[in-house]
Amino acid sequence: MTGHQVETREFQTEIRQLLDIVINSLYTDRDIFLRELISNAADATEKLRYLKLSGNEVNDPDLPLEISINTDETANTLTISDNGIGMTKEELIANLGTIAHSGSKEFIRHLTESKKEGSSGTDLSLIGQFGVGFYSAFMVAERVSLYTRSYAPDAESWVWTSDGSGNYSVEQGENTQRGTKIVLRLKEDAKNYGQGEEIKRIIKQYSSFVPYPVAVNGEKANTVEAVWTKNVSQITDQEYTDFYKYIANAYEEPFCRLHFSSDAPLSIKALLFVPGENYERFGFSRMERGVNLFCKKVLIQEKSEVIVPEWLRFVRGVIDSEELPLNISRETLQDNALISKLNKVVTGRFLKFLEEQAKDAPARYKEFWEKFGLFIKEGAATDFVHKDALVKLLRFESNLSGEGELVSFDQYVERMKEDQKAIYYISGSSREVIESGPYLEIFKDKGIEVLYSYETIDDYILNNLHEFQGKKIVAAEQDSEDLPEAESRETQEGEISEDELNSFLDWYKETLGTKVTEVRSSKRLVDSPAVVLSSFGTHSMQKMMQLMNKESGSVPAGILEINTRSAIIRGINELRKANDPFAEAAAQQVLETAQIAAGLILDPRHMVNRLYSLLERAVTSK
Ligand code: ADP
Ligand code: MG
Repeated sequence: MTGHQVETREFQTEIRQLLDIVINSLYTDRDIFLRELISNAADATEKLRYLKLSGNEVNDPDLPLEISINTDETANTLTISDNGIGMTKEELIANLGTIAHSGSKEFIRHLTESKKEGSSGTDLSLIGQFGVGFYSAFMVAERVSLYTRSYAPDAESWVWTSDGSGNYSVEQGENTQRGTKIVLRLKEDAKNYGQGEEIKRIIKQYSSFVPYPVAVNGEKANTVEAVWTKNVSQITDQEYTDFYKYIANAYEEPFCRLHFSSDAPLSIKALLFVPGENYERFGFSRMERGVNLFCKKVLIQEKSEVIVPEWLRFVRGVIDSEELPLNISRETLQDNALISKLNKVVTGRFLKFLEEQAKDAPARYKEFWEKFGLFIKEGAATDFVHKDALVKLLRFESNLSGEGELVSFDQYVERMKEDQKAIYYISGSSREVIESGPYLEIFKDKGIEVLYSYETIDDYILNNLHEFQGKKIVAAEQDSEDLPEAESRETQEGEISEDELNSFLDWYKETLGTKVTEVRSSKRLVDSPAVVLSSFGTHSMQKMMQLMNKESGSVPAGILEINTRSAIIRGINELRKANDPFAEAAAQQVLETAQIAAGLILDPRHMVNRLYSLLERAVTSK
């Protein structure tokens, strides 16, 4: 007897919650557990291969890099073994007891919530994409025992066991060879996974692309190929899809793919996929990058942070360049000139691909835009190297587009009016909000196109872009000389006369004091009595500043433009001439109402008494 100790430990809270769901789930597609375990075995094998290639000493150096699966119908077990990097005791505890990935907690929170609500909201099959695929073993196993030995030459063997209920135990094991062996004792209703034929069927369905040989009861069950190095004409759609599912840990089809190779300026083979869905947009946390870097089919870096820009984090795939030195270390990858060049070439090529898609299949591009447009916006706002290409990919709704119909800058410029001075945009939370506001009036009147900016990031991009193909980009809410003007026409009866106007404006400015920087007669208003113009950017930018300053209630002073044809404005002027103190209350109310229309945040409380007095006057006059 060696008399070693069995250590019992509790799973981290989130993992307990996850296990509770996994064990009790009525999830029908339990087959996926196998793919998760094979994918872990392949990851561990790939890491081992890299360690060896970059000159690290490993134990059992001559073990073949392959995965073996064995079934035992009498013992009712399924065993998956690899000769990968294995785990030390510390790694066991960190990897299979606590959550390592940033997105996992959110995924589990979504799962728990949708379970409480009894809805089928979050799909259990996403388990692998959120870094907790291992635990899917408990869908089919009543007990999981994992035997492992790390690659480090003096590593010991360890055994991890759990029945998935709140605890697991770790104890030292008999000396085993390098790698990991997972034994599943199958649940009564999961006995079918103890049959070799069943396992082979699942491998065909889910794991036909695994870059290492997988043997089931000693028989090879997959074909191993580096798909990206083959000729496009030699690969079927099915092979592409299988490969995508493998590298993206996904069960859905990819949205689209780009497979290319080039020899100049760099030798590159790349196979990139846009995933079928964007989980980031459903409130899951930020995705990790998903492009793996290879050199002549050897993995150099998984989920490389240097090979694609951050806004391309939604893309999954492989970039292989034989120009990379095989033994390049992770540290030198960071500031390697060749890597930046590769990054630039691949990103440029991918953007060109998107542009072609947008041109050749606009409906499909629209679908892409709805799912992944946020990443393109993020790029347009942050990536100066690829800005021009990114800006061409942006899409907006406009007053001339139908609801949900999208306009590009190119289209906008193409249909600009001959004398139109600039590209215009207007911000607001929705089409309704924008179209009921005063800012659109002049554009509607003159049939000029205005892009709609619904989100702060749109505002940010448009505000920072300044111009497109030499045309200025101007916010409709801005005080700008580049805005269109209403036609001058005959003075109407009752309209404030030229002579009177200046003294009225002076009085108005004095009445409002520091709340405005200027009061002037508007050339842009058609029906509304007044608008406030922002002195910088758009109102939603101002609103954001307000929120950041936490001084809601105090609106930064802008310009008030009044419409001298409006009955309200004319009325205020008459009251002023009659020295009626009511003129002042009405003048104040016009400003605040215009600020509300601009979507600025006002403290409505000090408006209440004034509104009552205005109402009183209205209801008591006949
Ligand atoms: P993910 O694979 O996304 O990291 P998993 O829940 O599938 O999440 O696995 C958790 C971690 O456990 C892995 O990141 C890895 O460190 C470790 N692991 C799982 N299976 C193996 C294995 N066969 N060999 C070595 N390490 C493994
Ligand atoms: Mg995994």
